[in-house]
Amino acid sequence: MNNAKRYITADEIYPVIGDKLTDKVLVFEGETIVDIIGVNEVDDSKVEKYHGLLMPGFVNAHCHLELSHMKGKIPTGSGLLSFLYAVVSMRSFPEEEIMEAIAKADKEMWENGIVAVGDICNTPHTSETKSKSKIMYHSFVEMFDFLQDDQADHHFDQYYPSYLSMPSNGFHSKSIVPHAPYTVSNSLYNKINKAEHQSAISSIHMLESQDENYFCSGKDSGYYDFYRSLGMDIPRFNGHANNALHHYLSQKNQPDHVLFVHGTIMGAEDIALIKKQVKNPYLVSCPNANLFIENKLPRYADWQKSDIPICLGTDSYSSNWQLSIFQEMKTIAKYQSHISFLDMMAWATINGAAALGKSDILGSLEIGKSPGLVNFKGSVEHIFEDNEEGIRVL
Ligand SMILES: [Zn+2]
Repeated sequence: MNNAKRYITADEIYPVIGDKLTDKVLVFEGETIVDIIGVNEVDDSKVEKYHGLLMPGFVNAHCHLELSHMKGKIPTGSGLLSFLYAVVSMRSFPEEEIMEAIAKADKEMWENGIVAVGDICNTPHTSETKSKSKIMYHSFVEMFDFLQDDQADHHFDQYYPSYLSMPSNGFHSKSIVPHAPYTVSNSLYNKINKAEHQSAISSIHMLESQDENYFCSGKDSGYYDFYRSLGMDIPRFNGHANNALHHYLSQKNQPDHVLFVHGTIMGAEDIALIKKQVKNPYLVSCPNANLFIENKLPRYADWQKSDIPICLGTDSYSSNWQLSIFQEMKTIAKYQSHISFLDMMAWATINGAAALGKSDILGSLEIGKSPGLVNFKGSVEHIFEDNEEGIRVL
């Protein structure tokens, strides 16, 4: 490791925590910020100067790296049920193709300034790339049993080797999580919640379409056809829950720290319920995937009114055109332009870092952290016009 000091500055430095810095220099030793000093406190010839702005590396709070080989394979705008059917029915690809696509996607994310990823996995395919990666991964080993209560043990055991294979070593971390309210039986929730401590970092796909709510509250829903197309006849839910979120929150031994992913149809009432029942919740949005699958975005104004931290994710190459947090921000700014780049800066960095339990090292430019460093040309007001992508400095 090169421990020579680097002195780095730009027109504007956004530390994310604390006010914008001008006329300041970040002092790095290796990848760690060891000091923040005035431009006059260091010999000018030693300073690397960047035009535009500097900010910490991005955190991608939701990805499925193992689906990277599905780039361009699934049609857009067909709705969640058709999308799920396509993903489930297209799972067999040559292993070499899968592994190559994983390595390529990991590299792409690194080049796009991403320093940490919350990655959903159902298979051990990504463990090799993760073990070698410069990106810090939290692997969410995801389980589902298609609501077959009597097969919960079998499915748990089937996914457990994937959990064992994922790296966890102080840099990377991992946990076992349920997939979604419409694919996990009560018995499997029980097994997952028992296997993990209540403080473990959990995640669940939540409130992506109204069909999900109808299904979980015992009403007519496209999910019955979906299950029939997989050869399964699912009995109706007993209808005690009002929607998918109620159903999820009624499970025993709920984890305290939960990433609620997508929330495309999540409204103010849902958010209030999450706040009431979950100690340490995060709302994770993957706007490009929502547009890809459902042609719909969440109402971020409702999300912003709560003080639940909002995070950003790319989801996978099965439902996105690239793996870039900057492009996710650009999409939000395009369709809900009341939200600025600066409003989203914490979503893209420190909130994701906290969601993945890594905010002591990542997410903001503070002394003692190793948060990565990304440069954008031009001014923050025109950042999306002036830049295709950030330039990784560190
Ligand atoms: Zn997902």
